[in-house]
Amino acid sequence: MNTTESHHEIKRIGVLTSGGDAPGMNAAIRAITRTALKHNISVVGIEDGYIGLYHNRVKELTSHDVENIINRGGTFLGTARFVEFAQAETRAVAIENLHKNNIDALVVIGGDGSYMGALRLTESSIPCIGVPATIDNDITGTDYTIGFDTALNTIVHCMDNMRDTCNSHRRVTIVEIMGRHCGDLTLHAGIAGGCEFAIIPEKDFNLDEIIANVDKAFKNGKRHGLIALCENLISAEDFSKRLNKETGIESRAVTLGHLQRGGNPTANDRILASRLGEFAVQLLIKGVAGECVGIEKGLLVHHPIHEQTHKKPHYYVDDMFDICAEIA
Ligand code: ADP
Repeated sequence: MNTTESHHEIKRIGVLTSGGDAPGMNAAIRAITRTALKHNISVVGIEDGYIGLYHNRVKELTSHDVENIINRGGTFLGTARFVEFAQAETRAVAIENLHKNNIDALVVIGGDGSYMGALRLTESSIPCIGVPATIDNDITGTDYTIGFDTALNTIVHCMDNMRDTCNSHRRVTIVEIMGRHCGDLTLHAGIAGGCEFAIIPEKDFNLDEIIANVDKAFKNGKRHGLIALCENLISAEDFSKRLNKETGIESRAVTLGHLQRGGNPTANDRILASRLGEFAVQLLIKGVAGECVGIEKGLLVHHPIHEQTHKKPHYYVDDMFDICAEIA
């Protein structure tokens, strides 16, 4: 199938969530379901992502099934990682199940790995649209992903709490933040949380300089320091120990971990998920397939999945970094 156009009428769509969960996934499922039903298209929810599709774990979704979920974190359909889906034989079973259930098209809510599954299915004549959902904001084709804003707010709330205790104890806290290999959460949280430094993969950093700056600031009377550190760069624990050894300043490492992934979605994430979910169904109705939806400069956009690169442009990093990379 041409990955950007399909021509048969859609009567029944499937929806699944795949990869890591993100707050707002439920709001997206709700919007997809309600939009489809409004257009007399029935909806099937697939449990636990591609593995549920492989095992034919599906359930019909009514408007009633998606009530009371817009405010809930996680995904009520469940999500999973299923590496076997990259194999054609595994996908053949899933495709058979889609046909068995008369599912004409699929909306895949997840990250760029999940998009690849959607692209492969589109190439096998199942029209798919990808909806970006991950707290990491590491997907191309959209300025923001569903879940990013909620995670950011959770992190900033934690930072505010840490700042109180840092100030009381005259201490530095190094906060390790999720993002896989994308510094967006760390940089945004660094600014909103009033951190002294943000250490992110998109920007070179020099630990000696950071330590010297912290030392100087504390010698000038500063009582607290917060350093936002993106995961997968350096060990927060080792950095904290080194800072303490070289300056004598009391220092702690805090890894926020999965605390960042859960929780009720913010209003912004609910709105983003609702808009993207609705748009995904509208595109399928129009015959678009093999594409992903997104938001760019506030507007809904769609791009072919195969044109998405794995490298997200970080056009704002330099501007934002300058705000963060100085110590009071
Ligand atoms: P995310 O979607 O958040 O990036 P993953 O990278 O773990 O998360 O991908 C989620 C799932 O998408 C995988 O477990 C697998 O089922 C499916 N997937 C990933 N890569 C491919 C691929 N190349 N072909 C088919 N399916 C894939």
